[in-house]
Order: sequence, then structure tokens, then C-alpha cells
Amino acid sequence: MYIFRNIVDLRLHLHKAKATNQKIAFVPTMGALHNGHLSLIKIAKEKGDLTVASIFVNPTQFNDPKDLDKYPRKDEEDIAMLIEKGCDVLFLPSVEEMYPDGTKPKKEFNFGKLTEPMEGAHRPGHFEGMVQVVNLLLEIVEPDFIIMGQKDYQQAAIVRQLLVQAHPNTEIVVAPIIREEDGLAMSSRNVRLLPDERAEAPTIYASLSTLKSLYKVMPLKEAQKEAIEKIEASGSMKVDYLEVADAITLQPIDHWADADKAVVCVAVHLGKVRLIDNVLVG
Ligand code: AMP
Repeated sequence: MYIFRNIVDLRLHLHKAKATNQKIAFVPTMGALHNGHLSLIKIAKEKGDLTVASIFVNPTQFNDPKDLDKYPRKDEEDIAMLIEKGCDVLFLPSVEEMYPDGTKPKKEFNFGKLTEPMEGAHRPGHFEGMVQVVNLLLEIVEPDFIIMGQKDYQQAAIVRQLLVQAHPNTEIVVAPIIREEDGLAMSSRNVRLLPDERAEAPTIYASLSTLKSLYKVMPLKEAQKEAIEKIEASGSMKVDYLEVADAITLQPIDHWADADKAVVCVAVHLGKVRLIDNVLVG
């Protein structure tokens, strides 16, 4: 696997691949890789001829400085995992390489109401930072495919729009959520859970699954309230939000009939960690 820390060398390498008509499949990550990330690498290898991953803990998308400080960093282990999975190229830039003129965004995008609810409402500035870095990475890599996880449902929906507005030659592939055996969605942040918190965490997915089974059986608002209560029952978890939204527009709905397909998105504080998860319904 080739590892590039600077943009010029990476682009030279990719230029050679493009000149021979190789399709590039790109997997952006923040590292501390787990099987969820590796499932995206597998899909990238199926979709393209050259698999490019990036590891960059992007400071501009962290609304909480403590979360950025504590974000796990495991470059050596990550590199070994990527080599084992047959990733061809890793882009591992520094903050200075990505933002030589400071971190203020140079381009402004407008995604209408897509960025307003859920993560947009609860993590001010998060999506601006995410769009800034994904746009920059797409300008650098110019991939044919970008592979992203359904785990970050709203993020994937926004990137889909970003492609329409600024990168029409790149296609998004959204990969299913990979879970631990007990249902907890894999996340780089899970390693920060204390043992008793880790034992509580599967309740999040259990509640989403129950809510899903109540689709058109129980009125949406009642089912939603039950799900929140179930998560908060033990007292150790605090729901930041639990919304049922139209799966396309991401606008919250009050009745099952308000959308053909819905997504239930949740964010939960557990100890010092904030976890997100979602399920599609209908
Ligand atoms: P992150 O490193 O958290 O920024 O995630 C990088 C990519 O991996 C994003 O597209 C995530 O949606 C995806 N991802 C994170 N966790 C999972 C998971 N459990 N299953 C599938 N994809 C995931």
C-alpha cells in the first residue's frame, strides 16, 4: 500500500491510474478503524480498480473541543488493517497540509433544510466542517466512487447533494451499518466507553428495533416516546434526540403516513461519549 502525506505526490500517483482508465473508489475516514470501516474498503474494492482511503481527524467538524482531544488515534494499527484488506493507497495528511491558509471554509454550500434537523440542530458547525473536508478530499482525489456508511445517515444524504452541486462525476455508495454481536453499531468512539457503559449501550439499537416493529402498529408519537423512555430507563443514558424523519428529505414526521420510507435517527450521551445510530422503516 502506498502512503501519501502530501497532496502533490498523491495526485501524481492518482494521475497515473486515471491515465490508464482505472476507476478510483474512495473511502474517507477519521481512523481508529473497525470492521465498519473495513466493510467500506471491501465495497470500494468491488466497485473500483484502485482503492484509496484517507485518515484525517478533521478539526473543523468537531463542535466539542474535548471530543477532538479524546478522539482515538491509531495510525500504525490502521495502516496494518488497511494493508491486510488490500487497500491500494492511503492519504494521511496533517492539518497544515489540508488547511495551509487556515481552517476558514473557502466555499459555501447550501443544502436547504437537509442540514437543519438532528445532527445539524444538535452539533452546531458540524456539517459545515464535514462538507468542507469532504469537498476538499473530493477535489484532491477526484474519485469515481465515494463509499460512505449509513451509520452517518444525514451525512451521507448531504454528501449526495454535495456531489450533485460540485462533483457530478463521483457516485456515492452508501454501505449498511456494521454492528457488534449485541447490536451496538460499531464506532471509533466505542473504545472510550467504560465497561458498565459498554454493557448498557446495546439498549440503543434494541429500542430502535422495537420502534421499527411498531411501524403502523402504534401511533408514531407514542412509539417514539416509548423508545426514548426505554433508552433512558436505567438512568445512565441521556437521549440528545430521537427523531423519525422522512428518509429522503430528513424532515421529522409526526405520523407514519407522512412518509413512504422513514429513518429513525438517535443520538445518545453515555458517560463522556456521544453515540449515534439509525434504522430505516417502511
Ligand atoms: P468516521 O471515521 O467515523 O468518520 O467514519 C468513516 C466512514 O465509515 C463514514 O462513512 C461512516 O459512516 C462509516 N462508518 C462508521 N461506522 C460504521 C459502521 N458501524 N458500519 C458501516 N460504516 C461505518
